[in-house]
Amino acid sequence: MPVKKFICKRCGAPKINAYHSPYIVCDFCSSLVDVDYTSGYKVWTNNKQTAAEYEKVKHKIEAQLNQFLKDKNPEAYESTQSTYWDYYYKAFPQYLPPTVNTPEIYTKYIEAAARMSTDYAFNPEFKSRESAYQAAYSNLKYYSKDGRSYVTWESFEPMIKHYIQLIHDSFRACYDDPQFDIMHLVLPEDIHLKLKISQLAQIWIPYLEEEKAAQFLELVSLKYEYTDYASLKGETKTCSNCSHEQFVPDNALNFTCEQCNRLTPLKHSVSCSSCGNETALTPDWQETINCSSCGTSNRVIVPLFG
Ligand SMILES: [Zn+2]
Ligand SMILES: [Zn+2]
Ligand SMILES: [Zn+2]
Repeated sequence: MPVKKFICKRCGAPKINAYHSPYIVCDFCSSLVDVDYTSGYKVWTNNKQTAAEYEKVKHKIEAQLNQFLKDKNPEAYESTQSTYWDYYYKAFPQYLPPTVNTPEIYTKYIEAAARMSTDYAFNPEFKSRESAYQAAYSNLKYYSKDGRSYVTWESFEPMIKHYIQLIHDSFRACYDDPQFDIMHLVLPEDIHLKLKISQLAQIWIPYLEEEKAAQFLELVSLKYEYTDYASLKGETKTCSNCSHEQFVPDNALNFTCEQCNRLTPLKHSVSCSSCGNETALTPDWQETINCSSCGTSNRVIVPLFG
């Protein structure tokens, strides 16, 4: 069966298993590889009741946040943001990065999300940067065709470009600040950017005619290639936490359960292709490591592609 082609930036292996969240986790080394916006869209549309309930809660929380902003009360704002993020990820667990796989990391991640949202809301510099985007947003022009509403490309494109610039700017305050170090571990900047753009695509694709939708996906690098990995060798393993069964390819270093995100290490060393010596893997291993005995350069993951 042809599947979308995602290549792991860390170990070079392709994604081979089916996935149920928008996050693509490497089947070989468990790194976060990419984001698939169509999968994110399915999560939303397949949970209509949760989505409707979420809209109500979000509306209520936004009213509270606006009040705290007016009152200049960042403490109350931040604590309400924590409540919001916790609610959001409990309502849509599929949107929680699979790297958030222990209660400690979860707490830190929610804290960081709340703090960042608060910094953003109370920083006038960020607000002024938003104005160009908001002006472009107000200029959006719509038209009707065959009973549907579409946005014109001429008004849409500048809005998107301003939005992406805004994300880039807001990321500096997050990824360059040591108090948010957890973000590098949980959601590396390039994946986070793709996630934001995916969310944007989910909203706007229905308002673009087919040809313009393709143009938009091209513009934001969300076009996918397809390939087939049917001949890959491996075995089915059972998750020790939730009993979910999943195909694990030969040579995999780690096994991340697609259902509950439990990470199970499988291998801690690489055997040398030349002398057979085992070289231990350090946490910061790269795609290739040199044998500690004979110096031969070995790829950490040697995928068995047909
Ligand atoms: Zn990998
Ligand atoms: Zn599991
Ligand atoms: Zn060797």
